[in-house]
Amino acid sequence: MADRTVRGHPGQFPAFDESRPDGPVASDRDPVGSRPDVVFSDTHTVIVTSASNAFRAEYRCVVGRPLLFLDVDGPLIPFGGPPDWYPAYQEPAAGNPLLARVNPAHGPRLQKLGCELVWATAWEHHANSYVGPILGLPELDVVTWPEPSIVEAVYDEDLGLHWKTRALVRWAEGRPFAWIDDELTEADQDWVADNYPEDALLHRVNSVVGLRDTDYVTLSRWLSECGG
Ligand SMILES: [Mg+2]
Repeated sequence: MADRTVRGHPGQFPAFDESRPDGPVASDRDPVGSRPDVVFSDTHTVIVTSASNAFRAEYRCVVGRPLLFLDVDGPLIPFGGPPDWYPAYQEPAAGNPLLARVNPAHGPRLQKLGCELVWATAWEHHANSYVGPILGLPELDVVTWPEPSIVEAVYDEDLGLHWKTRALVRWAEGRPFAWIDDELTEADQDWVADNYPEDALLHRVNSVVGLRDTDYVTLSRWLSECGG
């Protein structure tokens, strides 16, 4: 038995036969070349068991749950105001005094949104080491940042695109996504609207105050509108 997790959108995976929830699926799009059986399906997850003479594999396909790309500096570590504006919620960690500004209450609020949280920050994997534990979050997927091609770099500079924008669109792979960041601009919002066919919310957070109630309201409203 080999297990794989396959990320994609519903159109990439075999159709779910509602009349036979535990039976074979009438589809020739089996990713391993044999007829799959759907053993479980809901709005967000399809688990396909595929059998052949050679081997048996289980595909756990996360198909519809919206992503939430999380920036750290700005939304979760506010900055730019007088230092005494910011309460210290805990002792600084990792020699970084700014980590004291991470409000642990954001963890449950973010999880309650019901989307798949993904770190999208220059902290990269350090976010799982130092920020996630303060928030009580499990280890999350992390977007890493490839070097753009020279053509893309020149083009994006002309457009005024943020350096994260293309990488996030590629990472989302057709899934609905929200992105909270203190640096994204209207140029990013316009470009994603023109170049990404699925639902996407690019929401700018004020870095001086970090995530606020109004930001959560915006996220919740968008998530309810796109089925989150
Ligand atoms: Mg930031």
